[in-house]
Formats: sequence, structure tokens, C-alpha cells
Amino acid sequence: MIHSMNVAEVCNQIIGGDIVALSKAITLTESTKPEHQQTALEILDYCQPHSGKSIRIAITGVPGVGKSTFINQFGNLLIEEYGKKVAVLAIDPSSRNSHGSILGDKTRMTELSAQKNAFIRPSANGETLGGVASKTQDAIVICEAAGFDVLLVETVGVGQSETMVHNMVDFFLLLLLPGAGDDLQGIKRGIVEMADLIAINKSEENQILAAEALKHYQNALMFMPQHRQNYQPKVLLTDAISGKNLETIWDEIQQYVMLATENGTFQKNRQKQAVAQFKMQLGEVFNMILFQNEKVKIKYNQLSNSVLEGKISPKTAAVQLVKSMLVG
Ligand code: GDP
Repeated sequence: MIHSMNVAEVCNQIIGGDIVALSKAITLTESTKPEHQQTALEILDYCQPHSGKSIRIAITGVPGVGKSTFINQFGNLLIEEYGKKVAVLAIDPSSRNSHGSILGDKTRMTELSAQKNAFIRPSANGETLGGVASKTQDAIVICEAAGFDVLLVETVGVGQSETMVHNMVDFFLLLLLPGAGDDLQGIKRGIVEMADLIAINKSEENQILAAEALKHYQNALMFMPQHRQNYQPKVLLTDAISGKNLETIWDEIQQYVMLATENGTFQKNRQKQAVAQFKMQLGEVFNMILFQNEKVKIKYNQLSNSVLEGKISPKTAAVQLVKSMLVG
């Protein structure tokens, strides 16, 4: 395991593009063992100056909309036609097998996973939303240090995780099915508002419904609050199996990045995200370090008993624990 290895050596391997070192480093960031966490921190510090150069793209949509098919085709296109290195990270805070959707599963991205310039990492298991966010954030830094220039973050577009993902990416791509109406699609309206581009996938299956959806979402997007980067999000019809319009999507993303870089919003957005991530990591790290402390553990158990017996309120217990820590 890496903790016995030299951190600088491992990091140099990562920066040299070594996938085995990359995978091991990400595994360390997911570990709950304090010694692993310490090594992971050192790796992250080493990688940080080498990160930041990729385009980070969220790909979201309900199970069955075609996310894996899309990522498989899109990733291949970027590697083969544009000479990119593509990493796929999955976010699934729910149980891995729920919704019949196993995100980031290599068997659903067969061609892409066989590519030398692709890296696919499924979601960390059994995690809270904050835990998944913090680990995905770490994985982004390490993948970028390893030279991946396009990061695809896959997530199920049905719940809370999208806001979190929106805070991590430069571009938010929402896949929808032909047919109008967010509620019919099981998609929350807030998710549509976050989209930088909407792709109506499986459009060849029902062209009438696809055209309806195109019109519906074009209209919907016109009435959305102002976009974070003064950009008018577009709606396109796609067919992930044949690859229809995938090149156009890449062109759109590039145009978007160019525009946002020119008007300064790209960098501003990343800075804002970095501060938001600091706040988010704070909660995670606070909990982690808190429970590594023996005195805290004892106090926690005492307070738990008091709560259990109804002697104090859960909130008072939490305040007391934190206060006892602050005074030492
Ligand atoms: P995910 O759950 O969102 O990752 O969806 P998948 O990529 O696993 O796709 C679900 C099913 O839809 C699979 O059987 C795919 O072959 C199929 N599919 C994906 N994209 C398209 C498309 O554009 N057209 C058609 N007809 N089927 C598609």
C-alpha cells in the first residue's frame, strides 16, 4: 500500500500519467484509516499545483436516459478525434444498486475503458453526500495532475447531488428523454436551471416527441434566471448510440469555455467553487478529525448516553461537544 511508499515518488508517477499510481492514490483518499488519510493529504498537496488545467463537465440525467452510452461514445470521440485524455468519475450517494443504475461501471463503457487515454472510476461506496463530494473533489485534483484534460463527472439527475456537482464543474450537461415536462421525466426543475446544455437523447426513437421536447426546453431556458456566465444555454437532439450531435456538443463546450475565459467568468467561477469546496471540506474534515481524538470519543459517548436518557437535547449535546473541544 502507498503509505509505506515515498509520497514524492508516487506523485511523480501520477504526474507522469501512471494509472496504477493514480488509482492507488484515489483509493487512499477514500480510506478511513488516519495514516492513509495523512498520506492522501500529502499526495493532494503535491498534486495541487499540477491541477486545474482540465475542462470539468457534469453529465446527468435519470437512469436509462443514456448517460453511460453517451459517455462511452463522447469519451471515445474526444480521445480519437481530438487527442484528449478523458477521466470519468461517478457520483452516486445512494446505494450503488438503487434505481437499477450502477454509475461509472466499466461494463457499460466497454470501448472507452479499453482506451489507453481513458480512466474510469466508479462512485465511492456507502457514503454520505458530503463524503462523496469531498472524495470526488480529491479525485479531480489527482486526475488533473495525471494529465487528464477532460473530466466527465457522471451523476443521476434525480436529487440533491446535482447542486453539489454543479459546484464542482465548468459545464453542466443534462440528458433528457423525448417528451415535454420535467415532472414527466422525473427531473427536478432546479436541475434544468443549472444546465449549460440540454441534450434530448434517444431523439431518433420518437422524432415528434423529440421535436416537442426541443421546443419546450428552448422556451423554458429563455425564461430562466440569468446564467452564471452570461451564456444562453442550448438544447440539442442527440442519439448516443449513433453519436449524432456529439461533435456539436464538444464544439459548444469549447465555445463556452472560450467565451467564459475571455470575459473572466471561467476563472471567477472556479474561484467561487474553490471557496465553496473549502467550506464543504471543512465539515467533512471536522468530523473526521473529531472522531480520531480519544477524549472526544469519550465525551461523545457520555453525551450520547445523556441524549439517549432524555437528559439533554441533541442540539445541546452537539454544542457541548464542540465547546469542550475548543477549550481543549
Ligand atoms: P444510463 O442509465 O443513463 O447510464 O443509460 P444507459 O447508457 O445505460 O442506456 C440505457 C439504455 O438506453 C441502453 O439499452 C442503451 O443502449 C439505450 N440508449 C442509450 N442511448 C440511446 C439512444 O440515443 N437511442 C436509443 N435508441 N437507445 C439509447
